[in-house]
Amino acid sequence: MGENGGMLALVRLRRGVVGESRRVCHLIPVPAGPVPSHLTALCGEAIFPGEAEVLDGLRGMPCHACLVESAPSGPGFLANAG
Ligand SMILES: [Zn+2]
Repeated sequence: MGENGGMLALVRLRRGVVGESRRVCHLIPVPAGPVPSHLTALCGEAIFPGEAEVLDGLRGMPCHACLVESAPSGPGFLANAG
């Protein structure tokens, strides 16, 4: 679940599009309207059609910036983290 209860998709750039170290799983808010020319991950990475694969679950390395963006904000969330 993303902000405003919207759907989030997990996508990963395809092999060959970027180096292996950048093939992380990005979180992308699924647009409600017409499909735009490209999608923007929570971390700001632009994802173009054909360059990425949609995953049915978290695989490999998650994008740290996307995870941080998707974490619930507000007091308390990290209070018991350690
Ligand atoms: Zn990302």
